[in-house]
Amino acid sequence: MVRKAYTYKRLHPKITGKCTVVSRVGSIQNNYYVDLDEGTCTCKNGFPAIHTIEKGDIPNPYCTHKLKAIYSLYVRERDHKTKDELYYAFLKALSTRYNIYEVCSAFHKELRRGSVKNAWYWAQILITMRGMSGLIRYMVNITYEETRNHTLGEALLKCFEHPKEITIKDCFKFVSWFCDSKKKWDLGHWRYHHFFFHEMYAGYFRLIKKYGNDVAKSDDIIPLDTTFLPNLRKAFKEENHSDIQYYLKGLQKMKHAKFGGLQGLRKEILNALELIKNEGPCLKNMEQVNKIFEMIKHKGEFYQLCYHDINMLCDLLEGEDVSYGNSECPPLGDMPRISANSIKVIPLYAHDNHTWEGKYRLKKYAGQLVPQVPQTDIDYRWNGAYLGVAFRYLSMEQLKRVGQWYEVSFIVKKDGKPYPANFFEYLYKLLY
Ligand SMILES: [Zn+2]
Repeated sequence: MVRKAYTYKRLHPKITGKCTVVSRVGSIQNNYYVDLDEGTCTCKNGFPAIHTIEKGDIPNPYCTHKLKAIYSLYVRERDHKTKDELYYAFLKALSTRYNIYEVCSAFHKELRRGSVKNAWYWAQILITMRGMSGLIRYMVNITYEETRNHTLGEALLKCFEHPKEITIKDCFKFVSWFCDSKKKWDLGHWRYHHFFFHEMYAGYFRLIKKYGNDVAKSDDIIPLDTTFLPNLRKAFKEENHSDIQYYLKGLQKMKHAKFGGLQGLRKEILNALELIKNEGPCLKNMEQVNKIFEMIKHKGEFYQLCYHDINMLCDLLEGEDVSYGNSECPPLGDMPRISANSIKVIPLYAHDNHTWEGKYRLKKYAGQLVPQVPQTDIDYRWNGAYLGVAFRYLSMEQLKRVGQWYEVSFIVKKDGKPYPANFFEYLYKLLY
């Protein structure tokens, strides 16, 4: 097969001409010559394409000098419409330097950390890769992984119902709102007190013991078992939190072909939860609970049910306070644009078991995943897996903030005894 050579294409008709870009590192100054018509720069990364054995010619990520040249065209442009187009072209060029999964990971971590400035940086890159509706969809999927802000959940859903009408201002609004929302570990809710927290985890660990470590990884693991649904209901009646977690997570990971696919299975679980909603413990505000159920059902009809929606509903029925975390959109600041001088690299905390770099580091620096060891080459404090979530809960308990890895003890005591005996070991195994 003859592979076609890569042909450079300008990202906008106005991206044209030749210029010199001056680069200073310390006292050393270098001049590079950029040709925007040919897509070349005289630096060692300046070719428009690179040749690979597997794929032939592939586009080369833009070097900083080409980016600076494009950015200067954007800065100098006076016509508003063209200026916006050139900014988008600059973002497009910038996005060639990133891997989409790493961008998603960085965006997710910044929403979790609540940094509007950083989240908006990655949001803009993600928009060039997946569009504005793709950005909103990402937030729709993870709302209940991070928050209990039902007002935000409802507003996001409403916006996503008309994907073609989404504007850049909507995107910025939702990124800011998401960042501002209280996160699960910030809520200070009764259910996260040590005992309850560990009860839940104990149920999950029983599931792993029975079905293996893969249970932690994805769906479609556990063979069909029709006793899970009735047992979940029984566990609710008995307020057995360990069992609730066992059967709920078991259902979520069950092989779903018999239910008409994953969505079919999730709808079954949703129906089961709705049937028992009046029997759940500590329900203070049924009107609100009904509203949230309606919202999630509606989501299932016009879009899809997410893994975290089901978990959230279950937490609600276990007695989580529905009013917690609800908050309106904060006053919006300026919508900052990225400049050629503010280009970011993927932060260390975005490299977790979801990225190649993270997997490599985890293998090489596994010793840094041990409690009370300084994390210098990995950073798992903002990780989404159980270990990261557990760290943040424990950190909030012990320090009233998300601190450093080495500051937090994983040994939790109940009646003076460590409970469960080796909590950390369980969590550690989940990752391997
Ligand atoms: Zn260059």
